Amino acid sequence: MHNATIKSLSADLAARKLSSVEVTQQFLLRIKALNQRYNCFITVDEEKSLTQARAADALRGAGHARPLTGVPVAQKDIFCAKGWLTTCGSKMLSNFVSPYDAHVVERLNAVGAVNLGKTNMDEFAMGSSSETSHFGPVKNPWDAATVPGGSSGGSAAAVAARLAPAAIGTDTGGSIRQPAALTGISGLKPTYGVVSRYGMIAFASSLDQGGPMARSAEDLALLLNVMAGFDARDSTSLERPAVDYARDLAKPVAGLRIGLPREFFAHGVAPDVEKAVGEAVGQFKRLGCETVEVSLPNMALSVPVYYVLAPAEASSNLARFDGVRYGYRAPEYGDLTDMYKKTRAQGFGGEVKRRILIGTYVLSHGYYDAYYIRAQKLRRLIAQDFIEAFRKCDVIMGPTSPTTAFRLGEKAGDPVQMYLSDIYTIAVNLAGLPGMSIPCGFDSQGLPVGLQIIGDYFAEAKMLKVAHQYQLATDWHDRAPPGIEIN
Ligand code: GLN
Repeated sequence: MHNATIKSLSADLAARKLSSVEVTQQFLLRIKALNQRYNCFITVDEEKSLTQARAADALRGAGHARPLTGVPVAQKDIFCAKGWLTTCGSKMLSNFVSPYDAHVVERLNAVGAVNLGKTNMDEFAMGSSSETSHFGPVKNPWDAATVPGGSSGGSAAAVAARLAPAAIGTDTGGSIRQPAALTGISGLKPTYGVVSRYGMIAFASSLDQGGPMARSAEDLALLLNVMAGFDARDSTSLERPAVDYARDLAKPVAGLRIGLPREFFAHGVAPDVEKAVGEAVGQFKRLGCETVEVSLPNMALSVPVYYVLAPAEASSNLARFDGVRYGYRAPEYGDLTDMYKKTRAQGFGGEVKRRILIGTYVLSHGYYDAYYIRAQKLRRLIAQDFIEAFRKCDVIMGPTSPTTAFRLGEKAGDPVQMYLSDIYTIAVNLAGLPGMSIPCGFDSQGLPVGLQIIGDYFAEAKMLKVAHQYQLATDWHDRAPPGIEIN
């Protein structure tokens, strides 16, 4: 059963072949047996999950079931969930029990989805390897000596290891897509504003976006149908008519124009990644798609632009963690200023402090124009490049990440190398566009490669169709890590 997708679990629940309590118990047993190996979950609370499962079974019994009713979904520990420890991977929030639900969590609860537990992540979502967590690194189920990517590495590894049928994550610069690529699962970052950020602990508010992580494009559509929607409590939430993201899945892709940005296939891509992505494009051609070369001339600036803007926003967002209102407070201190200093010195890890320092620097008097304003202007040019490219094509494709999973510790001491893991994903956040990653092959070590699909604003249904048609023609998304029993 643990190899089931949302789609198949949903059908079995509807046919009364299984109850939500049975499904939830099965996954909880797997987590108990295997979480130690991968460190995917920070918090598991069997009683809370089973209470939700019982309620879901009752909802179904009363005839109110929806596709996700009774389906267990793991939640990245960045989403506030009422009554659950919500740590954001930080010592700063290591004792914070949320008094309220994030909008996304409310929506999942409303349809009777079961919270299977809170997943491990890079501290405050800053990282690409899930190594900066206060709760220890997550291991990649394909090779436990490698990282699962980050920052949503716990969610990705949980889905890859079949400890959860699906999960939710967040993506500020690649944190859904890059871990999806490195663990051989599917993940989607929606258009900015489609999913409410209310109750999602803020990192860089103009870039953060929640999204689904699952084993197939079909499952992503089912999850996004629940996650997306207007929320007045997030001032950047978009008020648009509801969309059924599964509506186009069955449509053919023949005639679709795939844009291949020159800059995505330049030096720096690992040969095995380039080969797998090239073969995936070949598969789309066999399905009747055309390819066109496009160019994103300012893309090379996306990593430096991001590392001005994201830290600037983070330095402001993280000012609230002062030992007074939330979480950790230093046990011993002198006056109030000393309490702030000691709390923040002890509560935040090294990468978070680095970002706060960069952020306050680029926002400071005298540097604001030179760094922050200039980066904002470049952000506009990066977005403009995509607008130009989408005049010539329907979707853009390329690698999600320049390499497959790297070894634990390999980049931990070199922040710039770590930042470059997001070279193909960050521009999408800067432009506010939707992007996804689906598995498209393996490298010579047997580690998964991800294909990135980028769409125009609000093109999620189209992207999901493209991904689904590829998954009907291939079986990369069905492969399980070695040693993961799938029967
Ligand atoms: N790896 C990027 C960073 O460290 C992106 C993280 C994210 O998307 N949350 O900031």
